[in-house]
Amino acid sequence: MIILITLLDGSATPEQYCEFDPTKCPFDQWLHNPTIPYIVGTRHFNDIQNLHVLLHQLGEHILSLYRSGKFDYKTMIQILLRLDYTSLEIVNEIALINDMLIIDEYTKDPMTGLLSRLLLDKIMMNQIDIARATENNCALIMCDLDHFKTINDNYGHLAGDAVIQDFAALFQKTLRKSDFIFRFGGEEFLILLPFSKYHEAQSVASNLCQQASNREVTFKGEKISYTVSIDTFGIDTSLITFVAKETIADYIQSVDAKLYLAKQNGRNRVE
Ligand code: GH3
Ligand code: MG
Ligand code: MG
Repeated sequence: MIILITLLDGSATPEQYCEFDPTKCPFDQWLHNPTIPYIVGTRHFNDIQNLHVLLHQLGEHILSLYRSGKFDYKTMIQILLRLDYTSLEIVNEIALINDMLIIDEYTKDPMTGLLSRLLLDKIMMNQIDIARATENNCALIMCDLDHFKTINDNYGHLAGDAVIQDFAALFQKTLRKSDFIFRFGGEEFLILLPFSKYHEAQSVASNLCQQASNREVTFKGEKISYTVSIDTFGIDTSLITFVAKETIADYIQSVDAKLYLAKQNGRNRVE
């Protein structure tokens, strides 16, 4: 913005500033810095690149309008506001990448690659807040492998581990990229589905339950089948005025309690 002002007041020309060229400016150099290769290829990277080009185009547009002398202040202010908004969007995208990295680096369960419980409260509070602010709902799914102790007893602990990993892999196939999947306990998993209603969670849960029952894990020549009991819980965000830690605990308690119904009612089912 400061450079744009010096260009507008005529004390400099665009050629004097590498900042004016989107392929040479310091931000572009940072974006393509080999020390941050993890950003490249993400959806956010493409969004940031596009926003960055737009930012430069808006700058050039302002400059050419100003130089032509054919502009009104209202139009100029509108473009400046768009420029400001675009730079805010870039900051937001970078913040999202940051969140993703923190989640990736620090909160993965090493055995399954799923999220550990470490950031469960924070992620849930954040997502429920976003859902509330955008007038959307979200839903929870809790899964617990059936008679898992028997699987361990019959085939050994390592075979049990392989079953847990197989079920975890099923999540990656069945759920959306935007869903948060936590390894909640040993053979228990909690999924947070943003922007989802109860009935959507129910259909995701039925699909998961059915797919799990069709799986066959081969461990040291033995073929192991398994089933899972699942329940779902819809969070009506219109009823929430403030998301506290206790609110999250209540939701988890509710979804956890309902799981016992699935167990009582015969397992390998969705409640
Ligand atoms: P239910 O159908 O009622 O859920 O029966 P269950 O046997 O699955 O439930 P229970 O809670 O009695 O046993 C869970 C077992 O899961 C006990 C524990 O040893 C095992 N388990 C927990 N974490 C792991 C793990 O990481 N690997 C293996 N192999 N077993 C685990
Ligand atoms: Mg359990
Ligand atoms: Mg179990």
